[in-house]
Amino acid sequence: MYSSGDCQYIWGRCLDLIKGRVPQQTFNTWFQPIRAISVSDNSIFLQVPNKFFYDWLDSHYKDTIQGSLREVTGNGMSARYTILLSEANNNIADQEESYLPGATQQKVEIRSAQTGMLERGTRINGNYVFENFVEGKSNQFAKAASIAVANSPGQTSFNPLVIYGGTGLGKTHLLQAIGNHALIQGYAEKIVYVSSDTFTLDFIAAIQKNKTTDFARYYRSVDMLLLDDIQFFQNKEQTQEQFFHIFNDLFQHKKQIVLTTDRPPMELRGLQERLLSRFQSSLTVDIQSPDLETRIAILNKKAISDGLDLPYEVIEYIAQNVKSNIRELEGLLIRLLAYSSLMKVDIDIVLARKVLRETGQVEKKSILSIEDIQRSVGVVYSVNLDSLVGKSRTKEVAEARMVAMYLAREYTNLSLKTIGIYFGGRDHSTVVHACKNIEKRCEKEEPFGLFINSVKEKIKNF
Ligand code: ADP
Ligand code: MG
Repeated sequence: MYSSGDCQYIWGRCLDLIKGRVPQQTFNTWFQPIRAISVSDNSIFLQVPNKFFYDWLDSHYKDTIQGSLREVTGNGMSARYTILLSEANNNIADQEESYLPGATQQKVEIRSAQTGMLERGTRINGNYVFENFVEGKSNQFAKAASIAVANSPGQTSFNPLVIYGGTGLGKTHLLQAIGNHALIQGYAEKIVYVSSDTFTLDFIAAIQKNKTTDFARYYRSVDMLLLDDIQFFQNKEQTQEQFFHIFNDLFQHKKQIVLTTDRPPMELRGLQERLLSRFQSSLTVDIQSPDLETRIAILNKKAISDGLDLPYEVIEYIAQNVKSNIRELEGLLIRLLAYSSLMKVDIDIVLARKVLRETGQVEKKSILSIEDIQRSVGVVYSVNLDSLVGKSRTKEVAEARMVAMYLAREYTNLSLKTIGIYFGGRDHSTVVHACKNIEKRCEKEEPFGLFINSVKEKIKNF
């Protein structure tokens, strides 16, 4: 029998061996983040940050890890993996499916070293906290409402709170942040996070086992119900029926309910009228796609928290090209990391371009050069190139310059810094300011928006 101290000792020895066998960068990237959690007679349980990480380890360093274990323990001890779970939330239920959608179920075991499996709900990810959620125009209101609810579960008029937005924009993150916050602050005890899919499967299993009463009793006993992706309830009549009763019960007892969906509640087809009318009386907040500055801020934060030293221009380049979805932004960072570790090259703009191109993420921008853009804007405004890049501040020239900068950002892959250089060596913040200014005017002044659209058409045919 091994004790918990043995686990750290064994893994520490393995790391010592591995360190001598792989390049330093590989070690830092792929081995340092691994945590040893527990050990049994024939397995050591290792915790890794995400599924991608596990896949990478499994396909590249399986033998390295296995070999070191053999040397250290002298027996056939094998490594088994778990995906990062938060220690802070032990009393939140745990369910394995949700951490490894689809693949490699038999190889990877998800379990909490401290609590073992609980039967219902899903363990909350301790990284999904408000502090890690970068705020921008696109998500400000949703975040503020979530904080309000987390601070006073069931006590605000935001019950239920419904968060909606496209995929990968942070709904699950906010939902779990509410749970984490309320739990850590002690504002609620029994907090259940569950995706609507899991809820449905759980319900079906309960029917099969004749345990629907237990099912209902469990969900009615919670202080806070965080239900993710309720669009999956569409056309599942019986589940909706159950949920309706649970909902009413929780609501009457002033228990907080937070729901997410990928579209506005009113557009959820196949949901019972009475459920919809419940949602109607609730607070609905939306999350939009993040703007460039927010995307940059998110990548920066992610890089810092992962201990990555990324050049600013790489961050900006990724943020400019991956626009709609934060999950994709993060995926790209991991890919870059994997590439640089595998090819033993630094992460720079050249690598970023290559990876983006390979993943098909680079927007098919027209083959316009910045010179084309400057020339055509010059024609539209009757301003010559010298004035456009020069110091003139007359209204006409200043507007033409801002429009040209904005279009350069839209239609080239150049960084803001480089665009600035093309405009008489201006600073990148001037370019940011110009782009914002034009975007704002397009939003506020319809004729100006139409004018910019017509310039875009002209440029494309230039
Ligand atoms: P959704 O549930 O809307 O599909 P997620 O909540 O799963 O999206 O978010 C996808 C990824 O993007 C997660 O890793 C999440 O942490 C991250 N993310 C989303 N929004 C933000 C944000 N504003 N700041 C930092 N990370 C974010
Ligand atoms: Mg989600």
